[in-house]
Amino acid sequence: MAEDLLQKITALAKRRGIIYPNSEIYGGFGGFYDYGPVGVEMKNNLKRYWWRDVVDRRENVVGIDGTIISHPKVWEASGHVKGFTDEVVECKKCHQRFKVDEIEKKCPNCGNTEFTEARKYNMLFKTEVGVLEGEKVTAYLRGEACQNIYLNFKNVVDSTRMQIPFGIAQIGKAFRNEVTPNKLTLRTREFEQWDLQYFVHPDQIEKWFEYWKEERMNFYRGLYTKQENLRYWEHPKEELVFYAKKAFDIQYRTPWGWAENEGIHWRGDYDLVQHGKYSGKDLSYTDPITNEKYIPWIVETSGGVDRTLLYLLIDGYEEEKLESGDTRVVLKIHREIAAYRAAIFPLVSNKKDIVDKARDIFNTLSEKQKVVWDSRGNIGKRYRYQDEIGTPYCITVDYESLENGTVTLRDRDTMKQERVKIEELEQYIS
Ligand code: ATP
Repeated sequence: MAEDLLQKITALAKRRGIIYPNSEIYGGFGGFYDYGPVGVEMKNNLKRYWWRDVVDRRENVVGIDGTIISHPKVWEASGHVKGFTDEVVECKKCHQRFKVDEIEKKCPNCGNTEFTEARKYNMLFKTEVGVLEGEKVTAYLRGEACQNIYLNFKNVVDSTRMQIPFGIAQIGKAFRNEVTPNKLTLRTREFEQWDLQYFVHPDQIEKWFEYWKEERMNFYRGLYTKQENLRYWEHPKEELVFYAKKAFDIQYRTPWGWAENEGIHWRGDYDLVQHGKYSGKDLSYTDPITNEKYIPWIVETSGGVDRTLLYLLIDGYEEEKLESGDTRVVLKIHREIAAYRAAIFPLVSNKKDIVDKARDIFNTLSEKQKVVWDSRGNIGKRYRYQDEIGTPYCITVDYESLENGTVTLRDRDTMKQERVKIEELEQYIS
């Protein structure tokens, strides 16, 4: 069942331009995916939706956009050069490699029970900066996006009106040389993260941790339709890093089990202390009212954009039996995330008056919303296409439109059709 659904979603994603395997004409490249014309719209909508929730609607959160490559010392200070490792074993029979925590006695591929000794791999991608041999410097593609936020903490304090408590948000690419990339975009080697680092007074961390834990769950509750597929998972005390008092994942129930969507982390003063030490710079904060000087503590919320989009595809995918006996595939995805708010169809493509009227509607609506045009094939086929990519509304311009200025508006979820006045369309679909 689980594999079946994942296969269907992978096929749909390819068929309808949501996600393509990268370098497919060369046989693909493990752990890399591209977004197609529909997928890029969804992903942009998803990032905007996060930004609105985490940045725009709050008076004390600001955004940044940092680079993928930073000074190599950053990754020493953060602990990634030494400790960003996975333990890997190889099956002695089929020679496939796995992370140690992926195997339970038996090889997931062939069932064999003998493995090589576990070896540690660093997951950072290395690159070189500089042109002359001998002068090149080894640098890293960022293994997590959040480091740029710590690096710019001081800059933000000095260049904005922010006072603690405040947050710095960022959406950006991260790179990990994963041993076993799998399940479409669940685990890839290049992906995007959305991060919020919220800087607080040490006495206040408990309160803000609980606040963000709740806020982030509310965000996902608003995004997915199947609420029963969301839960918190608390990290066991014995597995916490030394600076964390607690940690929670927000998990989504996928067809193959509960899986991480986002982590809520208690980072204490770890990051600013480390960067202070390695850079020799004072990264403390002075309260403008009390004059107290301290290193702020951090609550981090860090989630995956691509992974969330995959979960949204899983969440919204439905096959419905129709009265006609046919099966309808429909993606009941959040309408703010759908690639297009509405599709506009001229009923026939060879009747100028109808096509012109439909074009007028397209031009008017596209000033406010992302809409899409389709004049190809019969209306039933056009509906089916839009259902599969989750377009909430279809608007058909027909002969009656020329007479009385109304169009047929069809709803994705109910398939109900009603006549709506052209002037009211914009309000209706927004
Ligand atoms: P996992 O346990 O799944 O490897 P993690 O705990 O290492 O994830 P974090 O470092 O906390 O993940 O990263 C934050 C978020 O980034 C995760 O919740 C996930 O949504 C996303 N993420 C992490 N690694 C990947 C990856 N290889 N591919 C896609 N998304 C990822």
